[in-house]
Amino acid sequence: MSQRPAVLGNEAVQAHAGQVTVDLSAITDNVGRLRRLSRSSHFMAVVKGNGYGHGLVSAARAALDGGADWLGVAQLAEAIALREAGIAEPILAWLYLASADNEMIERAVASGIDLSVGSVEQLRAVAGASRRQGRRAEIHLELDSGLSRGGARLEDWPELVEATKQLERQNVLHSRGAWTHLAWADVPAHSANSASVLDFERAVHEAHMAGLGPLTRHVASSANILDRPDLHFDMVRAGLAMYGLSPADHINPAAFGLRPALTVTAPLVLVKRVPAGTGVSYEHRAMTHESRFLGLVPLGYADGIPKGISGHRLVKVGGELKPVIGKVCMDQFMVDLGPEAGGISVGDTVELFGDPSTGAASADMWGEAISSHGDEIINRIAPRLVRRYRA
Ligand SMILES: *Cc1c(COP(=O)(O)O)cnc(C)c1O
Repeated sequence: MSQRPAVLGNEAVQAHAGQVTVDLSAITDNVGRLRRLSRSSHFMAVVKGNGYGHGLVSAARAALDGGADWLGVAQLAEAIALREAGIAEPILAWLYLASADNEMIERAVASGIDLSVGSVEQLRAVAGASRRQGRRAEIHLELDSGLSRGGARLEDWPELVEATKQLERQNVLHSRGAWTHLAWADVPAHSANSASVLDFERAVHEAHMAGLGPLTRHVASSANILDRPDLHFDMVRAGLAMYGLSPADHINPAAFGLRPALTVTAPLVLVKRVPAGTGVSYEHRAMTHESRFLGLVPLGYADGIPKGISGHRLVKVGGELKPVIGKVCMDQFMVDLGPEAGGISVGDTVELFGDPSTGAASADMWGEAISSHGDEIINRIAPRLVRRYRA
């Protein structure tokens, strides 16, 4: 039996009416601004999650153009894909399975990718890969300063430092950095951040006393780049802000001259008038109280449009934001255009989210509507929507 070709998905992509436009100059400009704001000598652009939905390699290149000198990803496969695209700058990856048969670790070491190490198991796995490759791996020791995610807890830190030191002596690997990610990263003024940073400084001191380093220290993600210059250390790690999104409830990216890079649009595929008392979409959760014009948008939850946006005024059409009416379906939803069509007709472009300075809703506004944030919105956009890049 012949295998079903993967092309099926691509055909759907080519036929899809929805468009994702990525303005790469926005990423480049945003990185330039953030780099000028940061006090650190190094700047890591975080491009995990397919560059926060903007495209891994394109986002990385745009960030490097803006002055980033490091790239950060979660997965080894992402890091390797960046190398395969010809990117030679330092890359740190921080999420992988520490097992001897994880050949991705070997590939990462062979590709000169720095690896985060937060446990003795991870250290051993990286050391094994280094030995087999005959190449000294560069590692960044990760402290768990309270997030309880990756990293070694402070009480386990001395053991990790000692084991690292032994492997350094054998020239198997080299510790280049030390880092932590704050549990209250998105609430810069939170008092827990000060305690976490004190622990981090203590851990770095211990490592230096043991003879490791000098270690490149990095703690701050977007919110702390903008709000806590005292946490910048030797490198900052920027995600949300470099894509022009808000990293914290009280931070408006536009106030820092940052603008969103990503816009989602689609053409209206139908415009029609319905009388008062008409139920709209499944279960008639919405009813018209008067004669209304409705527009049909060919995007739904299969494209990453959250059901929770129903009733929210988020869709720009005819120069104004209009509310989504009725339940969002798998491939489509309706927009309430108002009592008059106001010149809006089939084929007109609707803008779902983009740059708020143009009157569109931002991904952050969409996030707020579903009690989340802009990052969840942009990461949900389905691969079947083609990304188009503007330089
Ligand atoms: C995602 C991530 C970042 C970037 O966070 P933003 O808030 O998007 O700037 C930084 N560091 C680590 C470890 C991350 O996982």
